[in-house]
Amino acid sequence: MATNEGLMEKIVSLCKRRGFVYQGSEIYGGLAGTWDYGPLGVALKKNIENLWWKRFVLDREDVYGVDAAILMNQEVWKASGHVGGFNDPMVECQKCKHRFREDHLEDKEKCPDCGGKLGAARQFNMMFKTQIGAMEDETSVSYLRPETAQGIFVNFKNILDTFHPKLPFGIAQIGKAFRNEIAPRDFIFRVRELEQMEIEYFVRESEWKKHFDYFLDQQTAFLEQDLGLTKSKIHPVDVPAEDRAHYSKHSIDTEFDFPIGQKELLGLAYRTDYDLGAHTKASGTDLSYYDEEAKERFVPHVIEPTFGVGRLLLAVLSDAYAEDEQNGETRVFLKFKPSVAPVKAAVFPLLKNKPELVAYAREVYQNLKRDIPQIMWDDNGNVGKRYRRQDEIGTPFCITIDFDTLGETPEMKDTVTVRDRDTGEQERVVVAELSSYVQRKIAG
Ligand code: ATP
Repeated sequence: MATNEGLMEKIVSLCKRRGFVYQGSEIYGGLAGTWDYGPLGVALKKNIENLWWKRFVLDREDVYGVDAAILMNQEVWKASGHVGGFNDPMVECQKCKHRFREDHLEDKEKCPDCGGKLGAARQFNMMFKTQIGAMEDETSVSYLRPETAQGIFVNFKNILDTFHPKLPFGIAQIGKAFRNEIAPRDFIFRVRELEQMEIEYFVRESEWKKHFDYFLDQQTAFLEQDLGLTKSKIHPVDVPAEDRAHYSKHSIDTEFDFPIGQKELLGLAYRTDYDLGAHTKASGTDLSYYDEEAKERFVPHVIEPTFGVGRLLLAVLSDAYAEDEQNGETRVFLKFKPSVAPVKAAVFPLLKNKPELVAYAREVYQNLKRDIPQIMWDDNGNVGKRYRRQDEIGTPFCITIDFDTLGETPEMKDTVTVRDRDTGEQERVVVAELSSYVQRKIAG
């Protein structure tokens, strides 16, 4: 797919205008590679995370959740290979001093910003280094974790000892990770502080391929069924050996047609017994598994499905962005799947200066909110303006309380208008059935 810079600009601007995503530290001119999520962005992010947690943890019996500390003993990162090997090749322009990731440049000699000559590539470690405590020496060094995976590996034994799971089983985690990207860019696509959702799924070596294929299917199912992303924009791509991470023997990235082109959305790696083996050796703690039936002890191999929350959010936003013509005006709407939408329904009184309409509408709003928390109240401007506002944040249903609700047309008493975001069609729904009506629509 070609890049669509115009679309990216529209999304960035909508995100700021409507409170999805703001630039980090904006009042100080920003901080490159950081973004802050506003109320609607948080809601969207939590929906994505909850759908993920439901599919990969709650709906299963074999996956355990953890939430490990971001700061870890520096030995973890030496053993995992990140201190020595988590590098990107960096080049600097000799004229303007701008820095680039060499593997992202088409012309490796010439600066894409000023045309100056680029220097030689050198390896740049992407971990943020910090000091723990008041003493500043080598023993106090720590790092902000560059992946959530190691927090899982160091808890492997805890899960074995407390839950006694049988192989195969997995451990899942959602959390922050930090990478000192040489050139953060493309809005929330490449950032320095990110959020990952990862599973380490422990298997017998002989069965790795079966589980790998299964999780590739699960990843696609999550994108298509849970997030409602367009199938034709999703592309699994084999990662050639020279591009794989140092721990991986086989990787498939799932790429997506973003407005910036086809790029990596998430990954799947066969990490072998690399990590458990390395931590056993470095820590002196036995991280093997004893199979009671086969009476054998071995270090399990691992399949890792890994997801970046920000990239998923950008995929959902860009896939949902739509424009059409209504009453001679361009309408912008986000056609989110209702289960993903940050606001499920908005409730309005037809007029805000009619106390009897407002009182009825407040009651409808409060009753609905008890069953479905993501409901919004809106009484600003006229109904047409409210529809535009709700369309722009992707609210699937707008519910209006009018004089017919109060009984002006007797057979319409205690019914409300429900307007569909995508078609603009309106339906009259009985108030007593409103909650189950909306819930049914959200469930799809
Ligand atoms: P890339 O090649 O784009 O730098 P990667 O191959 O280094 O990514 P992984 O190490 O596989 O990425 O990380 C797993 C997932 O975490 C990625 O698929 C992506 O969704 C997310 N991710 C990684 N780095 C970033 C980043 N700098 N900003 C946003 N998301 C990221």
